[in-house]
Amino acid sequence: MPIDQPPSEDDRTLDARIRQMVDDIERGDDEAPELAAPVDEPEGQAAFGAASGRGIETAVRDILTEIGEDPEREGLLRTPERMHRMWLELTCGYRVDPDRLINGAVFDVGYSEMVVIKGIPFYSLCEHHMLPFFGTAAVGYLPRGRVIGLSKIPRVVEMYARRLQVQERMTQQVADFLQQRLNPYGVGVVIEAEHLCMAMRGVQKGGATMVTSSVLGTFRTSKETRDEFMAHLERAVPRA
Ligand SMILES: [Zn+2]
Repeated sequence: MPIDQPPSEDDRTLDARIRQMVDDIERGDDEAPELAAPVDEPEGQAAFGAASGRGIETAVRDILTEIGEDPEREGLLRTPERMHRMWLELTCGYRVDPDRLINGAVFDVGYSEMVVIKGIPFYSLCEHHMLPFFGTAAVGYLPRGRVIGLSKIPRVVEMYARRLQVQERMTQQVADFLQQRLNPYGVGVVIEAEHLCMAMRGVQKGGATMVTSSVLGTFRTSKETRDEFMAHLERAVPRA
């Protein structure tokens, strides 16, 4: 396939698909678009045209050839195209606009007890091997008169998970984001994940999980606050 061909129907479909995924993270499918206050189009908007780039497909064909495969055999024929689509989907967090995500979902309230949301599932990719790491995130914060809609927190996690990551940085980014946007007394984030680059490469047998945490503000300075957060995490999730 020539590299310089114009965007096809499939490319436009792929662009729309990625735009939809980004919209879902920014707004959630539970919010009708008209309910969200208008926001300026993100500067990265033009980047959606990148979906028509053929670089990924060329690279995947090169990889197939290098490992001794035949990119022309039937089972592999559409693999470069599938991977092109998949990589854009798995890394669509780069395209999420945090202002849109948070827009209209931060509320001033008198509530000042700890808010904890845990068991947030996520899938990410380690930046060293581009293999998946996945698990759950727990997020807690102590509001200083300002809270964020609960449904937004899993999407903040997703915004950072759908990028190339290291688990430590992702943990820190979620904590920093909430600290900056909500200015709470403190934030705690704990992420537990299994890394396929460890499990599959034989460095560590599968099943080992890595736990990272980031504590800011009173979650760092007050043992009482930290203990309260940890107690929430240890409590079993009630069965539905
Ligand atoms: Zn890795």
